[in-house]
Amino acid sequence: MFFLKNSILSKQIILALLLLAFLSLLLPISIHFIFFDGFTVTKTFITILFFCIISLLLIITIFLFWIKKNIIDPINKLQENTAEVIKGNLNYDFTIDVNNDIAQLGQNLNRMVKTIYEQQKTLEELVRTDPLTGLANRRHFDQQLELEIERCKRKGTPLSLLVCDIDDFKCINDTYGHLLGDTVLVELGSLFITNLRKTDLPSRFGGEEFVILLPDTPLEKAMIVANKLLEEVKKLEFDTPDGPLSISITIGVASSEQIPDFDKINDPKNILLDYGDKALYRGKYNGKDQVCK
Ligand code: GH3
Ligand code: MG
Ligand code: MG
Repeated sequence: MFFLKNSILSKQIILALLLLAFLSLLLPISIHFIFFDGFTVTKTFITILFFCIISLLLIITIFLFWIKKNIIDPINKLQENTAEVIKGNLNYDFTIDVNNDIAQLGQNLNRMVKTIYEQQKTLEELVRTDPLTGLANRRHFDQQLELEIERCKRKGTPLSLLVCDIDDFKCINDTYGHLLGDTVLVELGSLFITNLRKTDLPSRFGGEEFVILLPDTPLEKAMIVANKLLEEVKKLEFDTPDGPLSISITIGVASSEQIPDFDKINDPKNILLDYGDKALYRGKYNGKDQVCK
């Protein structure tokens, strides 16, 4: 039977049903013997025996169907769903519509899968986040950059990035300590989040260097974004024993539009980052606190 494919009980149910059908045929014959062919003790005994066997089989059949509905089917469902969870698919609902311990087991499995799902999400978040600033880390940035490059090639849309570096950050650390240095990094991270579009991706590349991915953005627009960030950073103020401290950053802008045959070259990711790095270096060389492309 298709609904009990893995169960030994399925054979028993079929057997019971067949026997029941067979004996049901014998019942009218035995009644006929008693009432129409004369009454004897043997005939009565045989008829009562038939009745008892049929009743017993009926009870067994009903019991087996009850077992199927309340135990076998739920276990089959749990088995199928756990097999999916083993494959890594955590979107499975183990709720079972019966009123017994198996339903409780289903609820426990639901809670277990939910806990695993939440822990997995937390781990994924940790793996792609810079712990100090809460921005994307370099690993996540790299993955997203690769995806955006693919989209850029497919759709022919421009892609830009900003390589930002805090000016004279070592001096801030040396003068006011690492704690203030850390505060500057955190505030700068918040400033990026506040001033960028949701689709842009600011990341901390390491130390005091941030790289911002600007999908679907041409060079000209990336320059506008960079200049806006440059001005916003100047407005930040940090409390120090010597009074309020302002900082500045230098930004190197790189865009797919600057790179000939961007959709055909071998290593577009590193070439784009290299363009940004070189632009940043020019900005530092030319006196810092500026945007270069
Ligand atoms: P430039 O203007 O040329 O960029 O000079 P700079 O001083 O900013 O750059 P440099 O590479 O000389 O120094 C970077 C400093 O950043 C040195 C390092 O101690 C500091 N730094 C790196 N990571 C962290 C961090 O997580 N927290 C703090 N507070 N400082 C950090
Ligand atoms: Mg620096
Ligand atoms: Mg640096």
